[in-house]
Amino acid sequence: MAERGSQTLLFGPMKPVGLTNPHTGKRAYAVVQLRQDNREDTLRNIVGFQTKLKHGEQKRIFRMIPGLENAEFARLGGIHKNTFIKSPLLLDRYLCLKDMPHIRFAGQISGCEGYIESAATGFLAGYFAACRILGKTPLIPPATTAFGAMLNHLIDDTNVEDFQPMNINFGLFPELEPEITANGKIRHIKGAERKEAYCRRALEDIIDWTEQL
Ligand SMILES: Cc1cc2nc3c(=O)[nH]c(=O)nc-3n(C[C@H](O)[C@H](O)[C@H](O)COP(=O)(O)OP(=O)(O)OC[C@H]3O[C@@H](n4cnc5c(N)ncnc54)[C@H](O)[C@@H]3O)c2cc1C
Repeated sequence: MAERGSQTLLFGPMKPVGLTNPHTGKRAYAVVQLRQDNREDTLRNIVGFQTKLKHGEQKRIFRMIPGLENAEFARLGGIHKNTFIKSPLLLDRYLCLKDMPHIRFAGQISGCEGYIESAATGFLAGYFAACRILGKTPLIPPATTAFGAMLNHLIDDTNVEDFQPMNINFGLFPELEPEITANGKIRHIKGAERKEAYCRRALEDIIDWTEQL
């Protein structure tokens, strides 16, 4: 991520959203999150600091962070590897192995990334399995919802060779229809309004879907 540009981390692991300093009223430029890592609270995990940097460099750079000047490092960052199957080739839309439909995949191994995404695909696999047992036809969540967009990512076989795990993101959702203004012009929704429109559409469609389950 850092290689993509000096600002990239500000929109990822170091995103300062919601962290306004109550003493100054200012929002931080970037934040480093220290998560408690043992019951005694003698260890803290630095969130999102998986890195290829050499250990000496990690110590030098991380000690430049205000408050970490004297930090002792119990373990340094490394890149974590996701093990995942080629879902678009192997799974059907109910997350079953095409060749052995009694086996379903969900979570990170199926090619999603993150806690919520793993739980969401687990929910879907559970729902699909329950439908099968009850003799019901499962309803696929609409592609306009995060559930449907994630599922589509797992089974979309347009580029099987480059299939990589993904967090849920607006890029996985179908494009928004442009609006037609009062004077008949086409208006493409942009910026923050675009994200809001994606969310509004997703909420409407997920409510419809859950009402039919
Ligand atoms: C360092 C690190 C930081 C992360 N930080 C975040 C974060 O801040 N936010 C976020 O959303 N995601 C984060 N992730 C990603 C997130 O952890 C995973 O996407 C998510 O936990 C995957 O959930 P899962 O249930 O699919 O798999 P896992 O959580 O890996 O669960 C798989 C389980 O299966 C068990 N298991 C494995 N083999 C067997 C076997 N043969 N028999 C029985 N059990 C077995 C394992 O012990 C494990 O408990 C992070 C990942 C790492 C490595």
